[in-house]
Amino acid sequence: MSKALRLPEKWFRRGLWLVAVIFASFLIGLGGLVVGDLPQVESPRSVEDFMAPAQAEPVKAEIQSARAEYDKAGKALESANLKHGTAQARYQSARETFDNWVATRKATARPDQDSELIARTRALDALKQEENASRAAVEQLQESSLQARQRLDAANQRWSELRDGAVPAWRAEMRAIELRVFLLRLAVTLPLLLVAGWLFARQRKSTWWPFVWGFIFFALFAFFVELVPYLPDYGGYVRYVVGIVVTVLLGRAAILALNRYLERQKQQESLPETQRREELGYDVALARLAKGVCPGCERSVDLKDAGIDFCPHCGIGLFDRCGQCSTRKSAFSRFCHACGTPARAGECSASPAADGHV
Ligand SMILES: [Zn+2]
Ligand SMILES: [Zn+2]
Repeated sequence: MSKALRLPEKWFRRGLWLVAVIFASFLIGLGGLVVGDLPQVESPRSVEDFMAPAQAEPVKAEIQSARAEYDKAGKALESANLKHGTAQARYQSARETFDNWVATRKATARPDQDSELIARTRALDALKQEENASRAAVEQLQESSLQARQRLDAANQRWSELRDGAVPAWRAEMRAIELRVFLLRLAVTLPLLLVAGWLFARQRKSTWWPFVWGFIFFALFAFFVELVPYLPDYGGYVRYVVGIVVTVLLGRAAILALNRYLERQKQQESLPETQRREELGYDVALARLAKGVCPGCERSVDLKDAGIDFCPHCGIGLFDRCGQCSTRKSAFSRFCHACGTPARAGECSASPAADGHV
């Protein structure tokens, strides 16, 4: 991959990076769907599934019947309370009427009213009895409601004990399911990561590099982002350990590449200038000049200074004069910018054939 200098080539390159990103996003979308479908292999379980049916069923039935009984007692109590209230009010008002009547009778003191007094007292007693009976009924219902409540509480207590007993088994099963899902995902994403690593090492500069990079992005995303939400503890370990390994491998490759580069530069600088010039690609030389560095050794040089014709670091010729018109021109240009004479005809030996080589 030589550094591109032609404008359309630059834009093509950007477009191809875009292709890589879009390719990666579609792969990620597809991968997300596939990975998302994996956990449906396992049906979710509830704690109730882990309670022994022989023990759980009677308790469940007991809770239902106790609740029904409690509801029934509550309703009966409500209507008995109402009845008691009515009886109480009736006795109260009869009592007031009686008291008034007795007071009048004392004032008039008529003996013929004795039999009426007896009859009225009897009626009042009957009302009092009725009130007492309704109170007794209320008290009885209160008692049975309390009993139903206690029965329900006891059944609920037994249920929660059974439930607590089933929780460890349920938790273990959930963990086993999580682990299976996680391993399944790992089995899918780890090979992707390995393939991506191989592609990065061997194919990242190939003709099909946008697809290679798209696949690498996808594999990294699938492994480091999509794998981990499941079983966060194990997933976290795997993510960090693999992350450390990948970083160490990349770092090692970068350090070796830097050493190789420095070694190559050193070798290059010891070669005769003509050979170095021939080995430099035209576009590479122009790109380095545009950055204000020497095309030969990549150290910075003040190219605007008209007094500098050679690199002060490695001695490569930066500027020369046209063989035809003697105009000062870049030693790397192919033609004289003043008269158009091919540089080959002059002193410059930058080879057009070297175009495209790094
Ligand atoms: Zn130099
Ligand atoms: Zn010229």
